[in-house]
Amino acid sequence: MSSSVIDFIAAEARFGARNYEPIGVVLSRGEGVWVWDTAGNRYLDCLSAYSAVSQGHCHPKILAAMVEQAHRLTLTSRAFHNDQLALFYEEIAALTGSHKVLPMNSGAEAVESAIKSVRKWGYEVKGVPDGQAEVIVCANNFHGRTLGIVGFSTDPETRTHFGPFAPGFRIIPFGDTAALEEAITPNTVAFLVEPIQGEAGVVIPPAGYFTKVRELCTANNVMLVLDEIQTGLGRTGKLLAEQHEGIEADVTLLGKALSGGFYPVSAVLSNNDVLGTLRPGQHGSTFGGNPLACAVARAAMRVLVEEGMIENAARQGVRFLEGLKDIRANTIREVRGRGLMLAVELHPEAGRARRYCEALQGKGILAKDTHEQTIRIAPPLVITSDQVDWALERLATTLTQDFS
Ligand SMILES: *Cc1c(COP(=O)(O)O)cnc(C)c1O
Repeated sequence: MSSSVIDFIAAEARFGARNYEPIGVVLSRGEGVWVWDTAGNRYLDCLSAYSAVSQGHCHPKILAAMVEQAHRLTLTSRAFHNDQLALFYEEIAALTGSHKVLPMNSGAEAVESAIKSVRKWGYEVKGVPDGQAEVIVCANNFHGRTLGIVGFSTDPETRTHFGPFAPGFRIIPFGDTAALEEAITPNTVAFLVEPIQGEAGVVIPPAGYFTKVRELCTANNVMLVLDEIQTGLGRTGKLLAEQHEGIEADVTLLGKALSGGFYPVSAVLSNNDVLGTLRPGQHGSTFGGNPLACAVARAAMRVLVEEGMIENAARQGVRFLEGLKDIRANTIREVRGRGLMLAVELHPEAGRARRYCEALQGKGILAKDTHEQTIRIAPPLVITSDQVDWALERLATTLTQDFS
């Protein structure tokens, strides 16, 4: 490592809160699937900022939209209308088939906003007694880092010493419809769930799970809230992961790739009157729905569709998964994925996934471990067949090494 890289890392350590433990690379430039470090070394980005950069780094059309809008108008607050918000609403509603849209910034804010909205719906439409609303969530969920959300996490690292937490949540196992049926009470307003659990290590539920979930929610007048912040917008090879299951959520949460990684933009989308219960003054955000965010998100959605990125994710996802399955290595316990949301789970004896990610860095691939034994692979959706093959070669040589 050059001395300047060490300086950057040391300065971060000296001044920054130590809530991350990044891999030892300092990035300074990105284009498409590639990023470069300060020494000029090139890497294939197999994390895509947790799927926020699905459209590829610094996509020229999103960049142009952002610069153009930044020259004209960036923020009005919602005290006034702006000429981008209505167009953003129309385009995201048309793309996703939604009826109502609530624009926010981070993913966690979208989740919090959805919880507030389904509670309000529960009291004002479903008739749940005030203060009694229950939201069902899954074990090993990841929905963000705010207080409300970490209160219903099951990960001790996420929760410990951050309490006390808000009541009103019930936790059931993921992929278990009997548990859902049992957990529903007359006060249940919503089931909040990820279509595929991303941070838990790309956990795909059993076939038919969401069909049954949809039936149970409909039968009990419970809002099905799908957190598609990571799975949405083409990541799994379809616009929304719910389409693999042939179902429709009542409330869908988008974030991350909604801006192509340029800006924090998230949205709560609803198919019914959940968002209709919000009245002026009852919820808001200074930056939510600002013209810069809207212009960026409009461009990010447009290139996703116009440039065939969703179809490419489906095609390259199959190639990548098949390629991973062909790797004969004792270190691999399981390979799984849908579209370009992929994971290699290592045998416990193989050593920590982090060591493999560091070895991959040496070969020009940036990937992120999750939960000790899993290497997550999620490149930008613009990856080509040649680039997939290039990555597979390097993964094969790394995974046949032994770091135990
Ligand atoms: C990343 C993520 C979030 C939180 O998004 P932030 O923008 O980091 O607040 C919520 N849900 C899921 C499924 C995510 O992957």
